Amino acid sequence: MMTNIQTIQFFRKRIPSFVCKPGCHDCCGPVTASSEEMSLLPVKTAEEHDVALANLDCPHLGQDGCEVYAERPLICRLFGTTPRLACPNGHRPDVMIDPRIEEKIHQFFLATRQVLV
Ligand code: SF4
Ligand code: SF4
Repeated sequence: MMTNIQTIQFFRKRIPSFVCKPGCHDCCGPVTASSEEMSLLPVKTAEEHDVALANLDCPHLGQDGCEVYAERPLICRLFGTTPRLACPNGHRPDVMIDPRIEEKIHQFFLATRQVLV
């Protein structure tokens, strides 16, 4: 039985990566993540969360894009790798995510308590 952290690492390795439009962060916004993923991210104040949410932004989005890229949540990694979350700018990996892995990730989302990042 894998721990949630091990499951997250398992999924991270199986989500294909691809090159985004330089400087783009069009798909960033309010996202949710499991508490294990939250524990990998720096803590933001309630005020920082409020400001981000009021702008429909993510509190980890900075001037130069995502400030937590190496530890960004699964939902951020999934974006653009499946037709269900297609990039509005047409960027994608050569090979999209295996639908069976995508389904398992959605099951993981349902099975874990997801909180606003
Ligand atoms: S996936 Fe598309 S919308 Fe999101 S950052 Fe990359 S290029 Fe921009
Ligand atoms: S964690 Fe990073 S990639 Fe995900 S929504 Fe926030 S800024 Fe964007």
